[in-house]
Amino acid sequence: MRDLGIIEDGAVLISGGKIVTVGTTDEVAKHELLTSKPSHIEEIDCRGKVVLPGFVDSHTHPVFTAPRLIDFEKRTAGASYEEIAAAGGGIRASLRGVRDSSREKLAEHVRTAFDDMAVLGTTTVEAKSGYGLSFAAEMKSLEAIREASHQWAGTVVPTLLGAHVVAPEYRDDPEEYVRIICEDMIPAAAKLKLAAFVDVFCERGAFTMEQSRQILRSAVEHNLGVRAHVCQLTPEKLTPLIEFHPASLDHMDFVSDEDISALARLDTVVTLLPAANYFLGLKAFPPARRLIDSGVAVALATDYNPGTAPTPSMPFVLSAACTHMKMSPAEAIVAATYNGACALRLQGRKGSLEPGKDADIAIFDASDHRELAYWFGVNRCRETFLNGVRQTAARINL
Ligand SMILES: [Zn+2]
Repeated sequence: MRDLGIIEDGAVLISGGKIVTVGTTDEVAKHELLTSKPSHIEEIDCRGKVVLPGFVDSHTHPVFTAPRLIDFEKRTAGASYEEIAAAGGGIRASLRGVRDSSREKLAEHVRTAFDDMAVLGTTTVEAKSGYGLSFAAEMKSLEAIREASHQWAGTVVPTLLGAHVVAPEYRDDPEEYVRIICEDMIPAAAKLKLAAFVDVFCERGAFTMEQSRQILRSAVEHNLGVRAHVCQLTPEKLTPLIEFHPASLDHMDFVSDEDISALARLDTVVTLLPAANYFLGLKAFPPARRLIDSGVAVALATDYNPGTAPTPSMPFVLSAACTHMKMSPAEAIVAATYNGACALRLQGRKGSLEPGKDADIAIFDASDHRELAYWFGVNRCRETFLNGVRQTAARINL
């Protein structure tokens, strides 16, 4: 994770949405596409800038309609995440807005979030449902993600998170809600190709390990990928989840040393979400050093959501990872690009600048890669290419 493969005086040649070649400017200039004197070549001068693979934000919750300002204000007065949820805030507070909104309206919100992310250098986004919590509202949320993805040049990976919390109607009968997820939501999402992954919030106050396993088992039976929110608020043994070969386990603030050793032998990525720790005002941050030093593949993502991480900014996450988790700037960049792609099982197409990969590129006003994690509260991304489509500077300069 410390080897970025930096090319000084580098150049990238792209065509048809794909990377054709990468190397020094001299090497790339010798490519036959350029020496055969083509008529339609556009050259972009990146002298004095850092050119990166676009960020892969592998964990976001963009399907919601309003910020949660009451929760926010309560938290400033000292209430905990669980106290706010018990008072009717939290995830359930976003539910009404999603259930009452049209698919078009939700898609508009999602599309705005994707645009905000691209401005900050993100070109691939994993997007979860999870604020509908009924069959109809979860399907509508996934359709909104699909509609927004058709209007956006970047790449979107949709995830069904019907198992975010138990729907309020089933508070006294959570098993029935789990049954609806397993027997209605997952089969429909698979059949309509509305989701690539199924996610579950395995946590006190959300879903038990046994319920989580039922949900993931159904996902595997329907040929969907598997990922989970786990060990965010309380410790949990991971062996019962690992059996399902998750692409990623996310949060992991309370992961044990024993489970870290097990994870180091697997290709499951651990996705850390420090923006949530920051926003919740926690003193402790996810244990990046223990994980990386043990050989676990670590990714970083925003966790963009209205309750615990209202930020579309991967550069902010890089800053938090370096200052609070003692990741090096190089490790943070790898975690936000290549390892994020691995967390979505897209490393063959995304996450690095290599011939044949999608032309997902972010250009930063910085002369050294370490500046990306150094500056915070300011956007240094000047341009992005999303599958070869250039994002206009007008939007970026806002
Ligand atoms: Zn999350």
